[in-house]
Amino acid sequence: MRPFLLVLSAPSGGGKSTIARKLLQARTDVGYSVSATTRRPRPGERDGTDYHFLTRAEFERRVEAGEFLEHATYGGHRYGTLRGEVESIFARGCHAVLDIEVEGARQIRAHLADAVLIFVLPPSAQVLAARLRTRETESEEEIRNRLDRAAAELAAAPEYDYTVVNDDLGLAVEQVAAIMDAEARRVSRQAEFHDYIDGIRHALVDPAIRHAG
Ligand code: ADP
Ligand code: 5GP
Repeated sequence: MRPFLLVLSAPSGGGKSTIARKLLQARTDVGYSVSATTRRPRPGERDGTDYHFLTRAEFERRVEAGEFLEHATYGGHRYGTLRGEVESIFARGCHAVLDIEVEGARQIRAHLADAVLIFVLPPSAQVLAARLRTRETESEEEIRNRLDRAAAELAAAPEYDYTVVNDDLGLAVEQVAAIMDAEARRVSRQAEFHDYIDGIRHALVDPAIRHAG
């Protein structure tokens, strides 16, 4: 089966990073695409694990060199998916999970028709704002900017293939996993499908099978 890109988008605080983390703990067939960014690390974030933290100049150099599958600007900072990240996940035979905003998801959709796009919805505006505040990673001003952007991002949800409401975390992770399992069964992703069918069709005309018993 050919591995695919799984894009998770949500308004900031919607829970896409948490869902991605749980998915990685639960499954051995997925890898997390570590994005590059020019924003500064939050306390506890590690370079190479949470993000590749780059200077603006280095980020733009890599854009010019064609190293990004997609890239976008969010909150005044640059973010992007490095081709090399996805290639090394695919080389391990795993699906690549991308936690990216909507502009980047549109670029993926335009270039890679078989990517699977999931939009994670918050249960309500109140819950979204509360989760962003309890995370304690942004200033009040930045939280308000992210809530403004959330309204615009929600308008893009109908462009995605699936939506999952992140109310109960366990259920949301199960739903994302169910989508992955169904997508993996798509005929178009089964490289061995035609040989398999041919094998059975040939066997069906084999006299040893037709006349046994
Ligand atoms: P995003 O990556 O979309 O910005 P996060 O994954 O960082 O969002 O989640 C925002 C905050 O909400 C985090 O503190 C996280 O622990 C919490 N959170 C995420 N999903 C749930 C959930 N289903 N129930 C309760 N808290 C959640
Ligand atoms: P944060 O600063 O909260 O980690 O991320 C801000 C936003 O940037 C989130 O919506 C996150 O999904 C998005 N983001 C993270 N990495 C990438 C990326 O590689 N490309 C794009 N387009 N967006 C990203």
